[in-house]
Amino acid sequence: MKVLKVDHIGIVVKDLAESLKFYSEVLGLEAVGTEVVEEQKVKVAFLPCGDSELEVMEPTTPDGPVAKFIEKRGEGLQHIALRVDSIEEALAFMQEKGLRLIDEKPRYGAGGARIAFLHPKATNGILLELTERNEQD
Ligand code: ZN
Repeated sequence: MKVLKVDHIGIVVKDLAESLKFYSEVLGLEAVGTEVVEEQKVKVAFLPCGDSELEVMEPTTPDGPVAKFIEKRGEGLQHIALRVDSIEEALAFMQEKGLRLIDEKPRYGAGGARIAFLHPKATNGILLELTERNEQD
């Protein structure tokens, strides 16, 4: 397993359209399109930022994981995603080490990436996402 880079940083907000104004008007970062990820019950916008991206998410229903996160901890930083060369290899390696995982098998996230989350108990409190993408841009 090899970690290639910080793929993106996940930020949760209550109002995506409203929050995107800050990123575009103040920081000059533009969303490259928004999409709804049904499985996660979120509307997501990716904002390319150099070699990484910001992933800004708004819950689409009050019962999804992101809605629950905001309810408990408020808006703000939610997760960090590291791009790996092989997500299967990475998960197998972490299981071998006895690390606690949220996803034991990869699933599909925004943009068709294959993703898996580690449990914050395994990472000193960080919700860490591993992601593998086909295109190596
Ligand atoms: Zn993410």
